[in-house]
Amino acid sequence: MGANHLMGNYARQEIAFEHGRGVFLYDADGNRYLDAVGGLAVNLLGHAHPAITEAVSAQAAALLHTSNLYRIPLQEQLATTLTALCNMESAFFCNSGAEANEAAIKLARLHGHRREIGAPHIVVMENAFHGRTMATLTATGNRRAQAGFEPLLGGFVRCPWDDLDALRTIASQRSDVVAVMLEPIQGEGGIRQLQPGRLAGIRELCDAQGWLLICDEIQSGMGRTGHFLASMDEGVTPDIVTLAKGLGNGVPIGACLARGDAATLFAPGNHGSTFGGNPLACRAALAVLAVLEKENLAAQAAATGEWLISELRQRTAGLQCVREIRGRGLMIGIELDRDVPDLVAAARARGLLINVTAGNVIRLLPPLVLTRDEAAQVADLLTPLIAALETAPEAT
Ligand code: PLP
Repeated sequence: MGANHLMGNYARQEIAFEHGRGVFLYDADGNRYLDAVGGLAVNLLGHAHPAITEAVSAQAAALLHTSNLYRIPLQEQLATTLTALCNMESAFFCNSGAEANEAAIKLARLHGHRREIGAPHIVVMENAFHGRTMATLTATGNRRAQAGFEPLLGGFVRCPWDDLDALRTIASQRSDVVAVMLEPIQGEGGIRQLQPGRLAGIRELCDAQGWLLICDEIQSGMGRTGHFLASMDEGVTPDIVTLAKGLGNGVPIGACLARGDAATLFAPGNHGSTFGGNPLACRAALAVLAVLEKENLAAQAAATGEWLISELRQRTAGLQCVREIRGRGLMIGIELDRDVPDLVAAARARGLLINVTAGNVIRLLPPLVLTRDEAAQVADLLTPLIAALETAPEAT
């Protein structure tokens, strides 16, 4: 494939796709694959959605980039739309999830310094994934991802997942904490949810302590779980929300949104991005948001996801190798009793693209446009593969 001049940081599968349409991808030989990965939660509207093609083509013909030296009306329009959708007040635009989280981390530190905390700390969760830049890698709770990149950054405190008592203990023992940063549903960590009411409990503690609540909704947001944000499913409004992935349906764009004090912390010169929020990316994101609303895709994702989870549970009932099927909307994890290094290739050979995270969790993040029929195809293709594990010798 002529890949010898690429750095070796990805374990890529031996396949490339030539074009896509809806939830399907096609390789050069015309083979069709049902894409239940959705570009890792990016292709909300599937592939080659005509509204996005039209918006991106028109904007490319008019103006790609001017820089943040000048006003960018499309960026202003996107900030208005997105802050309204998220109950936030201001937006900073960048190009990826890690950058959105970097902005959130910097806001938390500014918040701390404003309160005269000299070395502000952010509480982050075990098993979290927040990105690969040095700060977000430090915030990420995966030793394998961090190994070799030490020294990591200071300023983070790790807390067990879904453990409000542990968070209360941190509050009672430290006076240098300024924020809690978490994914409302952990994605890379294995589609791990908080207990119902837990996020509200964390919100309460943050209010009592004067801490900012930062919700990384880069994977869980954009309508995937039913509401526009997964934190909204719990009736919780964070102080800072980060988005990326699906926001541009494949055109790179990230956003850090804030409300209250956090909304006004950045001043000219203390943060920026050359490409961030350029006309092309903002036009794409505006088109994505318009389609999401017009087609009511968050509600569709919630209904299709609920159906698919219950269907998968029924079809795998009694299988010892399935520990749990969990998730919300179209963010679904199937936890197995063993690591499954060959399952992704086996599914691909049957025309289904899936992802496995944390070694033993099948992760489904299909486009939100997935229909009930297409969800049934996912179940048809996947369940025999899971059933076959039952009789296969265990992978080492
Ligand atoms: N935060 C979460 C919850 C993610 O799932 C990801 C990517 O998987 C990131 C942050 C990092 O996003 P990016 O790869 O765009 O930097």
